[in-house]
Formats: sequence, structure tokens, C-alpha cells
Amino acid sequence: MTTIGFIGLGIMGGPMAANLLAAGHTVLGHDTQQAAAERLVTAGGKYVDSVAAATAADVVITMLPDSPQVEEVVLGPGGVLEHAEPGLLLIDMSTIRPDTSVAVGAAAAARGVRALDAPVSGGEKGAIDGVLSIMVGGDVHAFDAARPVFEVLGKTIVHVGPSGAGQTVKAANQLVVGGIYALVAEAIVLLEASGVDPGPGLDVLAGGLAGSRILELKRKSMVARDFAPGFRIDLHHKDMGIALAAAREAGVALPMTGLTAQLIAAARAQGHGSLDHSALLKVLETVSGKAAS
Ligand code: NAD
Repeated sequence: MTTIGFIGLGIMGGPMAANLLAAGHTVLGHDTQQAAAERLVTAGGKYVDSVAAATAADVVITMLPDSPQVEEVVLGPGGVLEHAEPGLLLIDMSTIRPDTSVAVGAAAAARGVRALDAPVSGGEKGAIDGVLSIMVGGDVHAFDAARPVFEVLGKTIVHVGPSGAGQTVKAANQLVVGGIYALVAEAIVLLEASGVDPGPGLDVLAGGLAGSRILELKRKSMVARDFAPGFRIDLHHKDMGIALAAAREAGVALPMTGLTAQLIAAARAQGHGSLDHSALLKVLETVSGKAAS
């Protein structure tokens, strides 16, 4: 079994670390929040109070909010690369900009560290159940070395290309997820405004060609207006920015993504940033003058 440093023990990182512990690995966890540290200790992990201490491992996983945190924790003074022994396997599972992953990959290689970008899809439930989809960019031999760790955390595990490719696939994932949420929200607005019960209405959609994991997992909570996160609007706003920046970089226009990004920005501007991304429903209700008072 492996000693794994795990940095970023939030909604996703907490249960992922717990699964690695349950699989018999030793986990040295680090986070800036006390509650996250306590959860790790309850799950049987060892909390360490610095990035340096979490780097004294065979594998280091980062599960942080965004590019600046990954840059700070990996590239910054006192960061992972400053303390890493050559041969370390560094797996960044955060959703960040592809160009940051490329920079991390290059800086890691210069230190003899093998780096992978391995963002995930599947949400908090996927993290808890160990069934995440993991899209991996980087050297294929490093991917092979990391596979036993990935198999604890996920079910669909795919090497998608060189450094940064995992993040580009994740950007594509997020624009699809955002677009589907917006359309499910519009379906609920239409059904309710027409006097049709959205519960059975969406049950039918979920079983037909319109069916999706989002309809399967979230239709009941959306109809009930339960927007406890889950995946926060703030993080999806960040991801839409990544998708649009990647589109600009690739020289393509993504009009649906642009519209979805604006709706998510509206959710944030309306003060819903800490709600689940299914709270996009609140924006679509407001657009039609149907917002709950
Ligand atoms: P989160 O905010 O719950 O967790 C991030 C954790 O990182 C927090 O506990 C925070 O304290 C910690 N942290 C921040 N800066 C730190 C630092 N400098 N040193 C140590 N710890 C630090 O976020 P999350 O929902 O777990 O998401 C993590 C990443 O996974 C994000 O990039 C997100 O986009 C992605 N993601 C989230 C979901 C989801 O459903 N929540 C799904 C797929 C991907």
C-alpha cells in the first residue's frame, strides 16, 4: 500500500481521502480549514499542518478550488515541488485552466516529478461512492503508475492525452453539464407555469431520449427547491470561464456555452454563488417573473 499526501479535503477531497484510507493506503492530509482536518482524522487519516509534510509521500494528490491555489500549493514557495523527491507522482484532480496544468507538468518534469492532470466528474456522490469519472492528461507511464489510486476513486478512468488534456476534457464536461441544468430548469418553469406537475413530467423525461444523469439524480431536489451544495455555482462560474478561455485559445465559438456562462454569472450576481449549480432554476424563474417571493 502507498503513502499518499492529500491536499484539499473539501466536499470532494474529503470523501476521496476517506476512500483511499478504506482501501488501506496511508493518507497524510492537509487543508487550511479545521473542519476538513477533523473529518480526515475521523476517517482514520493523519492530518499534517504543512504542504511540505504532505509531500513526504509516494503520491501527492491535490483537490483545490482553482488555478491560483494549485499554483500556490505546487509551484509556490514551500510548495510541493520545493519539497518533492524525484520520482514523486503528483496528481492534480482539481478543475483548473489547461495552461496551468501544462505549466505544472513542465515545472514538475524539471524536478524529476511525474505530474498528471486528472480532473473528475460525478459530484460529491460520485466521490463518496468511489465512482468518479476521471479524465487524465500527462505521460502514459505515469498514468499506468497512478491507475491503482484512480481505481479506488473512480469507475471510468481514461487517459485522454498529454499534460492539460484532462482539463480540456473537463471543460467540455462542464459546458455540457451547465447547459443541461439550464434546460432542465426551463422545463420545470414551463411545466409549472402550464399547471402540469413537474414531478411526473420529469419522470417521463428521465426515461426517454431526454434522460440524463442530471435528470436521474437532481430532478426531485430541483422541483423541491433544495439547492444545498453539491457543486457550488461559484465553482461552475469558474469552470465556464475556463471553457470560454479554452475556446478562445482553440479559435472556436461556443455560443451555447456563452449563454450558459451568462446564466451562471447571473445566478452568482443574484447572490446564489454558494448554492448548488441546480440553483440555475432560480435564474430561469426570475427571467419569467416566476421567482418565489
Ligand atoms: P471545496 O471548496 O469544498 O474544497 C476545496 C478545499 O481546498 C477546501 O477544503 C479548502 O479549505 C482547501 N484549500 C483551499 N486552498 C488551500 C490551500 N492553499 N492549502 C490547503 N487547502 C486549501 O471544493 P470542492 O467542491 O471539493 O472542489 C474541489 C475541486 O474539484 C474544484 O476544482 C472543483 O471545481 C472540482 N470539482 C468539484 C465537484 C463537486 O461536485 N463539488 C465535482 C467535480 C469537480
